[in-house]
Amino acid sequence: MSDEKQIPYQQSELYKIRHSAAHIMAQAVTELFEPGEAKVAIGPPIAEGFYYDFDLPRNLTNEDLEAIEKRMRQIIAGKHEFRKAVVSAEEAKAQFKDQPYKIELIEGLEQGGFDEYGNPLDEKPEISFYTHDSFTDLCRGPHVENTGQVNPSAFKLMNIAGAYWRGDEHNKQLQRIYGTAWKTKDELKDYLWQLEEAKKRDHRKLGKELDLFTFEEEVGPGLPLWTPRGTVIIEQLEALAHEVERRHRYSPVRTPHVTKEDLFIRSGHLPYYEESMYPPMELEGVRYFVKPMNCPIHHKIFGSQLRSYRDLPIRLSEYGTCYRYEKSGELFGLMRVRSMQMNDAHIYCSEDDFEQEFMDVIAIYQEYFDIFGIDKYVMRLSLHSPAGLGKKYVDNGRLWLKTEDMVRKAMDNGNVPYVEVQDEAAFYGPKIDVQIYSAIGREFTLATNQVDFAVPARFDLKFINDQGEEEIPLCIHRAPLSTHERMVGFLIEHYAGKFPVWLSPEQVRVIPIRVCPKAG
Ligand SMILES: [Zn+2]
Ligand SMILES: [Zn+2]
Repeated sequence: MSDEKQIPYQQSELYKIRHSAAHIMAQAVTELFEPGEAKVAIGPPIAEGFYYDFDLPRNLTNEDLEAIEKRMRQIIAGKHEFRKAVVSAEEAKAQFKDQPYKIELIEGLEQGGFDEYGNPLDEKPEISFYTHDSFTDLCRGPHVENTGQVNPSAFKLMNIAGAYWRGDEHNKQLQRIYGTAWKTKDELKDYLWQLEEAKKRDHRKLGKELDLFTFEEEVGPGLPLWTPRGTVIIEQLEALAHEVERRHRYSPVRTPHVTKEDLFIRSGHLPYYEESMYPPMELEGVRYFVKPMNCPIHHKIFGSQLRSYRDLPIRLSEYGTCYRYEKSGELFGLMRVRSMQMNDAHIYCSEDDFEQEFMDVIAIYQEYFDIFGIDKYVMRLSLHSPAGLGKKYVDNGRLWLKTEDMVRKAMDNGNVPYVEVQDEAAFYGPKIDVQIYSAIGREFTLATNQVDFAVPARFDLKFINDQGEEEIPLCIHRAPLSTHERMVGFLIEHYAGKFPVWLSPEQVRVIPIRVCPKAG
C-alpha cells in the first residue's frame, strides 16, 4: 500500500482539486444566467468527484454541460487565486442576501451544530468565504492555491440529477451536476474505463443473465430469491466458511428468525434501531420482531451456561438470516436488500485473549482475500468521538480509549496497515471496516470486525476467571464473508460472471455429439 493511502481523503490533494472544481463549476453555471437568477445550494467533494446543487430558472441540458465545461477551462486558465476570509454572520448574510439556501446554511453555522453542507457538527465553526475570480462561496476549504492547479484535461462533468434540498423529499427539488476530477488525463481515462466496465459487469444485469437470483414483485422488494444456480454458489461459500471456521475452532449454532421484543430492548436495538427493523407482530399478547442481527441471540447462548476461563474463547458462528427495513428508494440489487444471510460469528474472550482473537479474525479475512484474488483492500479503524459520548456512543470514555488502543496495538503488532477515522465507531465499541476492490478497482464495503465492550454487560454475560472471580467477557462481532447477497454481488462483478470452477454453478456440460455416418 502506498503512503498516499494513509492520508485521510479530506486532507489529500485530490480532495482539494475536486472541491476547487466544484467552485469553478458553480461559477460557470451562475454565469449562464442573469446575476442573482441562479441560486446555489451546496457543492462538496465526494468519493470519486464532486457535485453542486442549483435552483435554476430552467432545466439544464447536456449541451449546457458542454458549455459549462468549456467555461470551466477558461476559468482554470485564468489561474485565479483561492482566497479565504473569515467573516461574521452579518457579513455573510449581506454577501448572500439573494441566496436563500446560503442564508439557511449561515443561520445553521451561526447557531452551531451544522457545517456549511448542513451536516451535524459537534463544535460551533467559524464562518468563512473562499473567493476565486468573481465567485465567492460559503466554505471552509481546503482548496488548491489557484484555479490553474485543476488539470483542464483531467475533469469531466458526468450527469445532471434531481436532488432535494437537504436530502428531504418535502423540500424543493434542485438540479445536481455531478463531475469527476483527477490529477492526470490518464487517471481520468482509467476512471471512465472502469465505469464502463462496471456497467458491463453490473451484478443486477449479469445475475439475471446467469440466472443466479430473482426479485419477484409478489414476494416483495429487497427480498432476493436464490435460484438453483445461485444456490450452488452460496452453498460453496458456506462450505468454505465451515471449513475455515472449523480450522479456527468456531462452534456453529442455529437460532430462530423471530424473537420477543424484550431481547431487543435489552440489546439496545429498541428503540434506537427500530426504524431499521420490520414492524413487530403480536402473538399471545407478546410482541415479536424478526431479527435485524444475530448478536443478541448468540449472547443468550453464551449466557445459558456458567462459563469458566477454561472454556474461553467461545466462538459461536452461524450463517444467520436477518431482516432489515431499507427504504424502497434505497434498495439496490443484492447490495442493499431487506433479507440477508450473514457470515456471522461472535467471539467471547477475556481481555488477555483479545489480541490473539482479534488478529485471528484479521487472518481469516486475509485467507479469503487470497482465495478470491482480492489484492487491494483497505482496513479502516473507526474510532469514537468524545463529543458523541452518551449520544452516539456508550458513555464510557475510559473504556473507549482502552479498547481503541487494544485494537491499534493488535493491528500494529500484526503489521497490518490501516487508516484511522474519527467518529465512525459502532455505538458499543471501535471497529475495523474492510473495503475491498474488485478486479476493475471498484470499491465495496465488505464487512466489519467490531469490538464490543458494552453489550456483554447489558446481557449480564460473565465467566469465572482464574482468580475465581466473575468477569465480563469482551465480544468480537465479525462477518468476513459479509452476507451472501453482498458477497455474491461483489463476486459477480469481480469475476465478470466467469466464476472459478469451484464456485461455478455449472462446472461441466455434457454435449451430445452424433457422428454423421457418411462422414465417418
Ligand atoms: Zn467550498
Ligand atoms: Zn454481532
